Amino acid sequence: MNQYSSSEKANILVIDDSPDELRLLSNFLKDQGYYIRQALDGEMALLAIQTILPDLILLETSLPRLNGDELCRLLKNDEKTQAIPLIFFGTLDDVAERIRLFKLGGSDYLLKPYSLEEILVRVEEQLRIKKRWDCLNQKIHQLQEQIKTQKITNTTPQQDSQELELLKNAIAATHNGIVITDASQPHHPLIYVNRGFEEMTGYTSAEIIGRNCRFLQGNDREQEGIEIMRIAIQDQKECCVIVRNYRKNGSLFWNEISISPIFDQQGNLTYFIGVLTDVSERKRADEELERVQSSVRQMNRELYRLNNELHRLANLDGLTGVANRRCFDEYFDQEWNRLIQEQLPLSLIVADIDFFKLFNDTYLHLKGDDCLKTVAQTINSCVHRSTDLVARSGGEEFAILLPNTPIEGAIKVAEMIRKKIHQLQIPHQKSSVSEYVTLSLGVATLIPTENVALTSLMAAADQALYLAKKQGRNCVIASQINNH
Ligand code: GH3
Ligand code: MG
Ligand code: MG
Repeated sequence: MNQYSSSEKANILVIDDSPDELRLLSNFLKDQGYYIRQALDGEMALLAIQTILPDLILLETSLPRLNGDELCRLLKNDEKTQAIPLIFFGTLDDVAERIRLFKLGGSDYLLKPYSLEEILVRVEEQLRIKKRWDCLNQKIHQLQEQIKTQKITNTTPQQDSQELELLKNAIAATHNGIVITDASQPHHPLIYVNRGFEEMTGYTSAEIIGRNCRFLQGNDREQEGIEIMRIAIQDQKECCVIVRNYRKNGSLFWNEISISPIFDQQGNLTYFIGVLTDVSERKRADEELERVQSSVRQMNRELYRLNNELHRLANLDGLTGVANRRCFDEYFDQEWNRLIQEQLPLSLIVADIDFFKLFNDTYLHLKGDDCLKTVAQTINSCVHRSTDLVARSGGEEFAILLPNTPIEGAIKVAEMIRKKIHQLQIPHQKSSVSEYVTLSLGVATLIPTENVALTSLMAAADQALYLAKKQGRNCVIASQINNH
């Protein structure tokens, strides 16, 4: 086996114009484990070389078209191919000829007929040299790269001191506070603070060098930012926090502190550099924003409340607290249309206080108002479904809308209302139907349809009420409209 492992099989190009000899040599080398490509003339060989660069070329000197000499010249003049070793083989046993071929760039010469064993030894030798050469080239390349990067980073001592001076001036001039602490000592004492820090805190450098930065928080140590910073220092990591700090004169300011650990070449922590920014203004702006947002939230709540109130005022009767006429009309319309779709009965009760004019005349208007309130609430207590609606439709008249309710149900509700009002025993001396306040009620029911007007139900209920009054009051009269 040859010196190459299977994963790096040497790639050998064999060029010979005699197919038999080409096959013989190729098969022998293939059996030795090499990767072999073949070419019958110089042109084919050139194509093969351009496709994949071989590690070694074996070539017959007298090739047709592009002969061995020409091919060798082409390869040696090309930067990509000039390092590929060439082993010539031919029939000329002539020293001058060999010297000529070596001068052309050949690495070896084999006289035909050659022994295969000899070929193998020469091939291995050339590949070994090639490998060493490649290795060397790679090292040179690496060194060149290293030199190039060193050139970039290497500066002269004069440049160094100029840069250092520039850096010092920049640090001194910045309005941010910059501090450096000695991380190699137990309490991380301050070893440097810039002018920005002095201006920000009111402390002079002389007053605080050697102290731990903790004095900036005074007794106000219970801060989330302080805890984050403490853990970062312990873990030798960087962090950025906002904390409350105190100037020498005791005044509070908000400080954004960003700290970074500095390590020496051995990886030991040596310093911490801190950059401090006074963010009080930003904090104030944040707080102001929060205040504005909070008052907007408060205003929204108030608006919501006012809206509800407005809705209530728009829909409720101010005296009695039950729905007003506007609300009743709207709801009536909505339910009417819904029940046209569902084909279910809609009942309407209209209730009117008997002899209420006389009541007012007797007990005066204020008592009249109280009576209206009590009657309204009592009527309200008689209806239970969420879809039922009690409204004051005008003066001393109430309308009760009962969707999905047939006439029998509506009559029951009306009768219950009548009884309950009577049972209230609100005195009414002048009434000729009872010694108490009473109601007359008209009930009408129909299943709404497209071709019946909504007002027909109202008219029917009013008509029934008129009949109730006529019949002597304190009673219920119903009217079923069969419109189907
Ligand atoms: P009837 O039994 O036929 O219904 O007789 P009535 O006196 O109740 O009917 P009428 O329509 O003649 O009078 C209604 C009275 O209701 C007029 C007014 O004195 C009284 N009224 C209407 N609205 C109010 C109100 O808001 N407050 C008070 N206190 N009284 C009202
Ligand atoms: Mg009336
Ligand atoms: Mg009345």
